[in-house]
Amino acid sequence: MSDPLREPRIAIIGAGMSGICLGALLLRAGIRDVVLLEKNQDLGGTWRDNSYPGIACDVPSRFYQFTFALNPDWTHRYSPGAEIHAYFEKVARDTGVADRVRFGTTVVETRWTGAAWSVTTDDGVSAEYDFVVSATGILHHPRYPNIEGLDSFAGPAFHSARWDHSVDLSDKRVGLIGTGSTGVQILSALAGNVDRLLLFQRTPHWVMQLANPEFRPITRRLHRRFPAYDRFSYHAARKQIESLSPALLHPGKTRRFLTWLCRRQLNKIVDPELRAKLTPDSQPMCRRLIISPGYYDAIQDPTVELVTDRIERITPTGVVTDGVEHPVDVLVLATGFDAHAYVRPMRLVGPGGLTLEHAWADGPRAYRTVAVPGFPNFFMLMGPNSPVGNYALTAIAETQANYVLDWVQRWRRGEFTTAEPTAEATDRYYREVDAALPDTVWATGCDSWYLGQNGKPELFPWAPEQHKVMLAQPRDDEFHIVAG
Ligand code: NAP
Repeated sequence: MSDPLREPRIAIIGAGMSGICLGALLLRAGIRDVVLLEKNQDLGGTWRDNSYPGIACDVPSRFYQFTFALNPDWTHRYSPGAEIHAYFEKVARDTGVADRVRFGTTVVETRWTGAAWSVTTDDGVSAEYDFVVSATGILHHPRYPNIEGLDSFAGPAFHSARWDHSVDLSDKRVGLIGTGSTGVQILSALAGNVDRLLLFQRTPHWVMQLANPEFRPITRRLHRRFPAYDRFSYHAARKQIESLSPALLHPGKTRRFLTWLCRRQLNKIVDPELRAKLTPDSQPMCRRLIISPGYYDAIQDPTVELVTDRIERITPTGVVTDGVEHPVDVLVLATGFDAHAYVRPMRLVGPGGLTLEHAWADGPRAYRTVAVPGFPNFFMLMGPNSPVGNYALTAIAETQANYVLDWVQRWRRGEFTTAEPTAEATDRYYREVDAALPDTVWATGCDSWYLGQNGKPELFPWAPEQHKVMLAQPRDDEFHIVAG
């Protein structure tokens, strides 16, 4: 008997964590015509790009994974980056996603033909799809600092997401610029293992010291032997984070406690002058709270020097602050990412020639984080205002991917041909977002990658569970739907 369901052609742009997630869910649902277009030669997105010393995930591993592919073998509460990369590769292999990836393929344009999306890649090939989903990641484009003389530096200089493993740092004076989550992890790994480490800090960040115990072999065996226990551990870790999230966003007892705890932990810094330099004047979590097991120990290592004077320029041999040159052999730029590029630089052209550039002239906006008015059958994972603060991006990706799957399943059943969110529903949603944002910790006056071009935090102003509720099922009353 022939299959009564229609078979959609689906292109996923990007084979990182979220692309793998959607690919796996589609294949598990029996949808076979799926391709992942990946510009690199390997899977894993951020976990492929970032291989710097000390890389780990500061969200507990029991929660930083997919519910449909739980890993009983995590080695640590916060497992190292290579292990996380291997996990996503395994998920891609086990689910068949790996076989659907076209590597070394950059999408240059996605254009609506009137009935489908025509996707053109840099090899000049165009193919048509019924759905296109952008899974291009949020922290993907390295941000290089605009510092005079950066190009003149004579030694090795690289961004944290482009680590040059051919450089032996053990006998070098290393200059590290940036003290966000990445800079803190690099410093913690390099302190005591290089000749000297000069940390250039522009603004101090709040750091929460949390231990990172190793899971003993017996624990791993138990998780392997009893999948129900493994599932329980996932949900316990999730609940723990979710129960704290709303209270941490808004003023109140929990936030006061967090501030007290962060200040108290700073007392680990013995030298009062160093402690003062490390004390932020913003509220904890206004910028992403840094979780680190060992930063305060590492920064007191005798090989480390904290430089807080403004960087004037870079010379071939060092970094100049206040007229003083600090000689360094290697320069590491832990200076973050352009978190607002989303789908770009790919060109997206919808019906009537509407471009995403035009639609986003006043800044990126998405209906409930996943879709854009004017662009039918187009979805985003990790789109604008996703709940990407101190939360598991794997859980967000799964929520968004399941939402996309819901639409695809309806298309398969012939319930519609095209669907796109209405401008009214999107405007209404943003009125709610804009009303809720000023009450959050992100709006308490600090500069961070959370802020969009209008200075407003590009985050989800409610508890992450609310995001799940919001995307639990498609709402026809908020979409233009063309029947199938
Ligand atoms: P970031 O948080 O944006 O920090 C960039 C750092 O570079 C800041 O300290 C910034 O100073 C400094 N900087 C930028 N330009 C500079 C300049 N011209 N001169 C001097 N300093 C300059 O970037 P990130 O540390 O790569 O982290 C980005 C995000 O990645 C994190 O917030 C997190 O979401 C994610 N991440 C997660 C993990 C994890 O364990 N899950 C680990 C690493 C990263 P200012 O502070 O003054 O702006």
